[in-house]
Amino acid sequence: MGLEKSQATRRIIWVWVPDPDKGFTVRGAYDWWSRALPLVPAIHGKARALWKLKVPLKVKVFLWLALQDRLLTKARRARWRPQESELCVLCNEDRETTFHILCECKFSRSLWARILMAVGRNFTFNSLDDMWDVGQQLCNTAGGGTRQLVAEAVVPAMTWVIWRTRNGVIFRGHTAYVENA
Ligand SMILES: [Zn+2]
Repeated sequence: MGLEKSQATRRIIWVWVPDPDKGFTVRGAYDWWSRALPLVPAIHGKARALWKLKVPLKVKVFLWLALQDRLLTKARRARWRPQESELCVLCNEDRETTFHILCECKFSRSLWARILMAVGRNFTFNSLDDMWDVGQQLCNTAGGGTRQLVAEAVVPAMTWVIWRTRNGVIFRGHTAYVENA
């Protein structure tokens, strides 16, 4: 009974849009990705670049959904559940859209400022595409080796951590804050 309950909870957290019945599987994600690529030539280059990143597949799929503005944010959920709050749980100030939670939220901006400072950059993102472009700039100027691996991981890791932190607050009652250095 406990197991069923935990599985049900997991399904609620991870609504996998392409296959809501089976839920997320790596095989399903790969199949969906392979089918989607030829259908969307305008984003083909981005998808190919994302596919080559040396990060776990589930993180690539997550980032791909994020870049397409397909994450199940509170603003998105409110389209069919208008009684639910759209407020971002990391700042409690603005609507939780994909752009807000990953780029614009003061919690996220604080994390981005630190990581970008660590790699000698200073950017403000005006869109999800901006975020992706900065990641690509880091990759293109890394020069190979370990620096390349780190550069490739910046955007996937940051967005993944921010989203996991947000899920921790919503589903596990965690508290999110950025420590002052
Ligand atoms: Zn926020």
